[in-house]
Amino acid sequence: MTKNPSSPESYQLIETRLQERLDNGDTVCNLCLWRCRLRHGQRGFCQAHVNRNGTLYNLSYGIISAIEVEAIENKPVYHYRPGSKVMSIGSYGCNFRCKGCHNLEISWGVEALNRLARGESTDAWVRPEQVVELAQKHGVDGIAFTYSEPAVWLEYVIDVGKLAKEAGLYTVYVSNSYVTEEALQEVAPYIDVMCSDIKSLRDDFYRDICPTSQVSEVLTSIKQAHELGIHVETRTNIIPGKNDDPDELRRIAEWIRDNLGADSPWHVTKFFPAYQLSHVPETPNEIIELAAAQAREVGLEHVHSHTDISCDCASDNASVDDWLGRSAEEIEQMNKCSASCCGSEGILVKKFEKEAGLIK
Ligand code: SF4
Ligand code: SF4
Repeated sequence: MTKNPSSPESYQLIETRLQERLDNGDTVCNLCLWRCRLRHGQRGFCQAHVNRNGTLYNLSYGIISAIEVEAIENKPVYHYRPGSKVMSIGSYGCNFRCKGCHNLEISWGVEALNRLARGESTDAWVRPEQVVELAQKHGVDGIAFTYSEPAVWLEYVIDVGKLAKEAGLYTVYVSNSYVTEEALQEVAPYIDVMCSDIKSLRDDFYRDICPTSQVSEVLTSIKQAHELGIHVETRTNIIPGKNDDPDELRRIAEWIRDNLGADSPWHVTKFFPAYQLSHVPETPNEIIELAAAQAREVGLEHVHSHTDISCDCASDNASVDDWLGRSAEEIEQMNKCSASCCGSEGILVKKFEKEAGLIK
């Protein structure tokens, strides 16, 4: 396996891809459709990118929140290399705030990203080469980027994806598809499979979890992934009282048929109560089966109803320490950025926050 020349030897701030540097020192991030415009010291909505002196950096490059080895069917992906195994990895950060999101410590990862920003993180730093070596050691066939939103971790996803392809592994990208066309084009050569949510066909549903989003943007992005040659499987997690209208579910199936093809797989999954939707009951199996039956009626050929799978961020994931086979001393190191510009003040804004009187 070739070493990736862009991959540093220790924790570093890595320049964000697809950023625009403006004359006044602001930066615009074009990784996802938030297209955050950030002043010096500000972090994007996902918390994983920071403007530092007019350049945008990713905080989470090489930081893995969870690893799991599992069947590709768990993603869920049923029509690409069935029976094969993937090593799933994720970092921290998401560009949505779903009210029923599970495992917030990982998916949103705000505390972990704050610790990284302050240079106080003890999370393991994992080079892209190590991820691929680990996958080979565990005899898997592919690597899946999941648990958090890979679009906000694109720098690392691309570096790992490149090495994975060289090593003959396939790659899976589990996404909410609130991503820009530019970002999709950057990552497409290194991604074989995209498992994407279609959470609803209503703007008010999407606005509730991401105030800047529109259904049409998400659907356009899914269609673009399909047109770029990525194998796409879509998923709708049915939440009682939120997106369980049979007519809306039928229209999702029709959209897939008309835009991705009648042979495009659709997974209907079960909501399990969590976070601000803890009071909402589990999805009755009858609704899941009704949605699947309707989809078959409108001509979708590969409809899969799941009564035991929810969003991919919802599982209890093993700690990264369990998999790395490294000593506690190696793992429990302070993730201060070793770049000379960052010095001993942590990696982010500490000194600027101090200057502004925000911290002592
Ligand atoms: S990835 Fe999205 S949410 Fe994060 S900084 Fe970039 S545009 Fe903003
Ligand atoms: S459910 Fe998925 S898309 Fe929604 S906030 Fe959680 S990780 Fe993000």
